[in-house]
Amino acid sequence: MLQILDIKKSFGELHVLRGVDLDVEQGDVVAIIGPSGSGKTTLLRCINFLEKADSGTLIFDNEKFEFDKITKKEIARLRRKTAFVFQNYNLFLNKTALQNVTEGLIVARKMHKAEAVEIGKKALDKVGLSDRYDYYPSQLSGGQQQRVAIARAIATNPEIIFFDEPTSALDPELTGEVLSVMRDLANEGMTMLVVTHEMGFARTVSNKVIFMEDGVIVEQGSSKEFFENPKEERTKAFLRTIQ
Ligand code: ATP
Repeated sequence: MLQILDIKKSFGELHVLRGVDLDVEQGDVVAIIGPSGSGKTTLLRCINFLEKADSGTLIFDNEKFEFDKITKKEIARLRRKTAFVFQNYNLFLNKTALQNVTEGLIVARKMHKAEAVEIGKKALDKVGLSDRYDYYPSQLSGGQQQRVAIARAIATNPEIIFFDEPTSALDPELTGEVLSVMRDLANEGMTMLVVTHEMGFARTVSNKVIFMEDGVIVEQGSSKEFFENPKEERTKAFLRTIQ
């Protein structure tokens, strides 16, 4: 479904992505893990064009694009098939939970309000917020705000959802409710690419793990194989630090 070939990105002299390949199939839940500063977030942001990669190829649904040549129109078309969940939720603070979910449907997708509201309510129900439609972000916990952001992603019916460290801004006691929603989505077959520090999630929910360090993929494979039988010394060293 989604393939990345030899993606590279530098910030000035700093080579953050030094040639990364990635292959996501429909229904995959891929966890991207690795030490701080290894380029995980940059990779995800480049894939969704929030950051401009210097070079590399993206293949999405059998269509091929070069990162340095892709047009704004093509980006807009690809973005309609994807959704992005940010670390800090990125909600409109002056809109209710429901309005946050429906806004994009009404404004960007030109949906009638009644239909958007129906879809928005269903999405909020799905993340366990059926009693919070009319609450503003300031009236919601961090975990609830992140669930609104996930509802907003689901509502657009994407082919894949990108998650950038979705629980790292949350207090530990609120992390579980967000991971549980993500687990439900995974069980329903949603394709997900998740940058995460949550090894429990990587181990039990994702089916593939990508371990990055210094802008390259050190090791990747099925999550079972990765955690039970890592091949690379650097992977073993990393796993020792987190266990
Ligand atoms: P973490 O787990 O701490 O979030 P990460 O693996 O996601 O780390 P990135 O956020 O991708 O790492 O950052 C990789 C490197 O790129 C870091 O050294 C970071 O300081 C640098 N970097 C990221 N964004 C920018 C930017 N906009 N301008 C300059 N340097 C940047």
